Amino acid sequence: MEKTSRALEIAKKLIAFDTTNPPGNQNQCPEWIESLLKKAGISAKTIDCGGVKSVIAELDFGPGKTMCICGHWDVAHADENEWKVTKPFSPKEMAGMLYGRGAADMKGSLSAMLSVLLNIKEEKNLQGKLVFIAFGDEEAGSERGAKKILETLNDFDYILIGEPTNMKPKIARKGAILLNLKVFNSKIDAAEIMDSIISSLSDINRINVNYEEPDEFCSIKSKIVNSGEIDRKMTPDEVELSIDMRHMKPDALDTILGRISDRLDRMGAIYKIQGTLVTQPYNIKEGKLLEVAKKAIHEATGRIPTTETNDASSDARFFAKKGLEVIELGLDDSTIHAPDEHCSIEDLNKLEIIYHKIITDLLSQSH
Ligand SMILES: [Zn+2]
Repeated sequence: MEKTSRALEIAKKLIAFDTTNPPGNQNQCPEWIESLLKKAGISAKTIDCGGVKSVIAELDFGPGKTMCICGHWDVAHADENEWKVTKPFSPKEMAGMLYGRGAADMKGSLSAMLSVLLNIKEEKNLQGKLVFIAFGDEEAGSERGAKKILETLNDFDYILIGEPTNMKPKIARKGAILLNLKVFNSKIDAAEIMDSIISSLSDINRINVNYEEPDEFCSIKSKIVNSGEIDRKMTPDEVELSIDMRHMKPDALDTILGRISDRLDRMGAIYKIQGTLVTQPYNIKEGKLLEVAKKAIHEATGRIPTTETNDASSDARFFAKKGLEVIELGLDDSTIHAPDEHCSIEDLNKLEIIYHKIITDLLSQSH
């Protein structure tokens, strides 16, 4: 267990730096990471963006694929008075858990990555390049971190981000589509129009027709215009629908427009439809990285991992814009940004094993 407890030791060191963001410019933390790597003979440097440093390190095993493993060293604000187990920046082990701000989000997974780096440099039979980045400024929007740095540094085949994901691979984020549909002076009643559109889309997404609270996946707002009283069962002068839809398919907009037009044509409706692709989903292909990650998680935990997708933001968006293969994989997220944030030490050690396996599988010479 010697090599897995190193992740824990590093995590405690990192947690002890108060890297609350804002202000986010506590550069002793990235400088410490840089010196840890350099002492181990790994080429590392810091890049300063608006007063905030990010650390970049590289292991070169010769020609081949380039993999990036990364995370952020800044943490969310912690109100010391709300913490019971320990103070936010005084790491404490208790009942198999490591407590401290950043334990889960995400100094724990950064430490697992660092420990892997320190081990892997001796590894034989690898090819390609492994790049490690500890970004600053993630908790404040990444202007002084990933957003800037990845404008020029983006030559990666695989990217693994250690955001907390409950030890499940998260394949980036859904895209968003906005649709605006008007049906004019039709002979069809409003309810029929709504129902028809909803059923035409229901296999693409779970659909929530709740006009007050928009759903994460799809919400439809409707406006029924009539000269008389408004009733879903009467034929209106005009029905207007705004549909906000999250999706994972790159061609979802065409599919959705095609299906709605098809339905309305068959109903003999007169209508105008407009669709905007607000954001493309990213990493929609389930590639080698995800396959290897699932296998590594299964081996380390005995669980068959499911794949997560959601809309919360992380630095993944700056990679994914470039159409690269990105997954997020990290510790339990149930206490992040909360008092007494903690992670399981067993999971932390397993995470190191999982990261190690993913990297060596992807960069192995047999690929
Ligand atoms: Zn985070």
